[in-house]
Amino acid sequence: HSKDSGRNSFRFFNSSISHNMLEHISLISGMRRGLQEQQFSLHYQPKIDLQSHRICGFEALLRWNHPEQGYISPATFIPLAESSGLIIQLGEWVINEACRQARAWIDEGMPDFSIAINISSIQFKRGNIDTLVFNALTRNQLPPQYLELELTESLLIEDSERLANTLANLRSEGVHFSIDDFGTGYSNLGYLKKFEVEALKIDQSFVRKMDNHSGDAAIVRAIIQMASSLGLKTIAEGVEDASTAALLRGLGCTYAQGYYWARPMPVADAKHFWLTWIKDKS
Ligand code: C2E
Ligand code: MG
Ligand code: MG
Ligand code: MG
Repeated sequence: HSKDSGRNSFRFFNSSISHNMLEHISLISGMRRGLQEQQFSLHYQPKIDLQSHRICGFEALLRWNHPEQGYISPATFIPLAESSGLIIQLGEWVINEACRQARAWIDEGMPDFSIAINISSIQFKRGNIDTLVFNALTRNQLPPQYLELELTESLLIEDSERLANTLANLRSEGVHFSIDDFGTGYSNLGYLKKFEVEALKIDQSFVRKMDNHSGDAAIVRAIIQMASSLGLKTIAEGVEDASTAALLRGLGCTYAQGYYWARPMPVADAKHFWLTWIKDKS
């Protein structure tokens, strides 16, 4: 009997693998088509300056509006884009689109801001990201300080000369960097000195539980203190309520974003939110 069930579960295991593979293959070809057919868009989540209470910028988050399945989460399709190599084209589209939007907002007379985009490690290693970014900035006549690149710790601990050169190139032209999901990756922080990053984004897993888990609040406090002694800014992500926002402000966190203020929004809604915010403040 035990042999039997073993065989059955083996079969089940097998068929579920091939089911996943088929789904993955279909999503990958769907992404390729989606890029051609403008099914991708960027949604914008405001970043709040915790001291002045101004909107200092936005994080651009990729959305895929699949013709049959509706919105598919980046948590699902980014890993597939990475494993299939499609992240190169997708990432290039994101860079261009964010620069185009930044230019549009400048032309529409919006106050000072920056747009942060997420860059995959694969993109950084395989693509000529510095050239892509410079071309997008030039094409849109966009000063580099309008753009911020969010990188992951796993990329920066790699000790490659090419990576260091690429980062230095971008940095010397005035493009800013921040470290996404900070605190979840690696304990060797030497890279913070080596590369000139601007800000640490404190991972939302710590921020969301700050209020009732003293351990998480202690981690957040430690990150903010370390960042400030290194001259780095901090951005808390995943702020969902007023008390967390108040705690972060008290700890001296520089910026924050989260559902408490706004979810990532389509561009028209983001602009509306922004204009209302400015009006309410004056
Ligand atoms: P991330 O860069 O860490 O982005 C933060 C995620 O947290 C976003 O999920 C955002 O919608 C969500 N979020 C923001 N505020 C809150 C909050 O208060 N509560 C909760 N529960 N969640 C909040 P999203 O948009 O699903 O993106 C997931 C991840 O996908 C991103 O994590 C990023 O790693 C990746 N991603 C998104 N867009 C791109 C892109 O254009 N390129 C690349 N390479 N990766 C991207
Ligand atoms: Mg991010
Ligand atoms: Mg993050
Ligand atoms: Mg994340």
